[in-house]
Amino acid sequence: MIELDAITKVYTKGFLRRQKTIAVNNVSLSIKKGGSLGLVGESGSGKTTLGRIALRLIEPTSGMVRFDGVNLTALSRSALRQIRPRMQIVFQDPDTSLDPRMTVRNCVAEPMKIWNLVGPQEEEDRILELLEQVGLQPDLAGRYSFELSGGQKQRVALARVLALNPGFIVADEPTAALDLSVQAQVLSLIKSVQKKTNLTLLFISHDLQIIEQMSDTVAVMHKGAIVEQGTTRDVLKTPKDPYTKNLIAAAYESETWLGKERGRSL
Ligand code: ADP
Ligand code: MG
Repeated sequence: MIELDAITKVYTKGFLRRQKTIAVNNVSLSIKKGGSLGLVGESGSGKTTLGRIALRLIEPTSGMVRFDGVNLTALSRSALRQIRPRMQIVFQDPDTSLDPRMTVRNCVAEPMKIWNLVGPQEEEDRILELLEQVGLQPDLAGRYSFELSGGQKQRVALARVLALNPGFIVADEPTAALDLSVQAQVLSLIKSVQKKTNLTLLFISHDLQIIEQMSDTVAVMHKGAIVEQGTTRDVLKTPKDPYTKNLIAAAYESETWLGKERGRSL
C-alpha cells in the first residue's frame, strides 16, 4: 500500500532562488497492495517528479508519503536504506541502469550482492530464474549489455529490479524509448510480473492507451495537479474533467487507439 498525502514540490532556481516552478501541487493518491495506478498527463505535467517523490528519491516541499503504513518522509537515512530495496524504479531508458561493460549475469547479480540477498551457491540459480521470469534465454547471461537490443536491455533492467523482491515499483514511461513492435511485449511482461508477484505499481505514461492496458485505476495530471482519478474503466468511459476529455479525443484523432470495438464502447 502506497499513500501520497497532499504532496507539493516547488523547484527554485536563479538569483536568490526567486524563479519558482510548482511541479506538483497538493496531490493525494493511494494505490492498494498489488494494485496498479496509471499516472497520465502531457510532458511537463509533473509525473516524473511525483513518481520520484513516491520513492523518496527527491524530497517533497510539503506532504507525506506512506509505504505499508510507514511514513517515508520522516525516516532517517539508515531506516530509509533498510526499506530501499522494497521500492524500485524502472526508467524510460534502460541504459540509465545498465553498465555496458558488464555481462547480463553481473548486471542481475549486482543488486543481490549489494544487498547481500543470496549466497554464492544460490546466485547462479537465482540469476537464471530471473532471466526466465523476464523472458530472456539463459545463454544471454554471458553477453555484455551493449550487445543487447533495446527490448532485451529493458528486460535485464527489470530483472535487476525484481532481484530485490520489491513490493512497490514506479515505471516511468518504461517503453517510450523502445520500438513500437517491442513495446507491447515489454508492457505485457511488466503486467504479468506485477500480477504474479502482487507488486504495487505506479505506471507513468503520457499515452492513455498504454494506461488502459496497464492499470486498474488512473490519475490524470495536468499542470502539477490531479484533475481526475478513478477506475480506468470509468474515467475512460465517462470522463468528467475537460482536460481528460481532450486527452481522450486526442488519442482517437491520432488513430493509434487499439481496436475499433473498444473505441465504439467508449
Ligand atoms: P513530466 O514527467 O510530466 O514530464 P516533470 O516532473 O519532469 O514532468 O516536470 C514537471 C515540471 O517541473 C516541469 O515544468 C519541469 O520543467 C520542472 N522540473 C522538473 N525537474 C526539475 C528540476 N530538477 N529543477 C527545476 N525544474 C524542474
Ligand atoms: Mg517524465
